[in-house]
Amino acid sequence: MHGFIPPERFFAYLTWTEIQAMSDKQNTVIIQPIGAIEQHGPHLPIIVDSAISVGVLGTALSQLDPQIPAYALPPLYYGKSNEHWHFPGTISLSAQTLLATLKEVAESIYRAGFRKLVFMNSHGGQPQVIEIIARDLHQEYSDFLIFPFFTWRVPHIAKEVLSKKELEMGIHAGDAETSIMLALLPEQVKMEQAVCEYPPELPSESLLSIEGKLPFAWVTKDLSKSGVIGDATTATRAKGDRILASVAKGWVQAIEDVYNFQIPKN
Ligand SMILES: [Zn+2]
Repeated sequence: MHGFIPPERFFAYLTWTEIQAMSDKQNTVIIQPIGAIEQHGPHLPIIVDSAISVGVLGTALSQLDPQIPAYALPPLYYGKSNEHWHFPGTISLSAQTLLATLKEVAESIYRAGFRKLVFMNSHGGQPQVIEIIARDLHQEYSDFLIFPFFTWRVPHIAKEVLSKKELEMGIHAGDAETSIMLALLPEQVKMEQAVCEYPPELPSESLLSIEGKLPFAWVTKDLSKSGVIGDATTATRAKGDRILASVAKGWVQAIEDVYNFQIPKN
């Protein structure tokens, strides 16, 4: 049941008596991997974002200093994926359901005595929801430290291995996600079905963009017929191995930093 997570780091394998007896619960890092079950083009399975959360976290936890107490919760497979609504197989929670689920999970962790919880989210459609609930929880429980992290925001080498266009426009099921899936679950990737599909270009003098400073709200079918936004055809396992190793290394440091973190005193 633990998948990519080292079994000794899998929270759900503990007993209640072990959890009760734990020392240093204040600083123990509890990590909730969050993904999505949503279309990722004709070549990738719908589990991608969940697989990336668990795969990166498992790789990071297997390299973490064994002296640092950190545990992965069972992954939250479902997320808010309504931008992919028109593609069958996509399963979406509403923002309200996701907020309520994360709140109730977090409160259960707090009740068990833990005070540091990381939300590790790999789906680009929901960082906003996770940031909102993180702030609400900390406002309600002032000694509860919540970290609303997006998996890809740690330092990593994707810049070195992706093209400039892909870095800018490859936002879904493109080179990075396909390569990392070739590293994690190669048997589930159908490279012969991989496509390159970039969204229509906006007028160059316009300040508006798909993502970034002045975005417009979109659903995937506004931008793509295949469900891919980017170039999946250039993905390779070698690139995926390098990206996975570097993102996981960033996560080792992020977990260490959370373990050592205290709210700055004023
Ligand atoms: Zn994805």
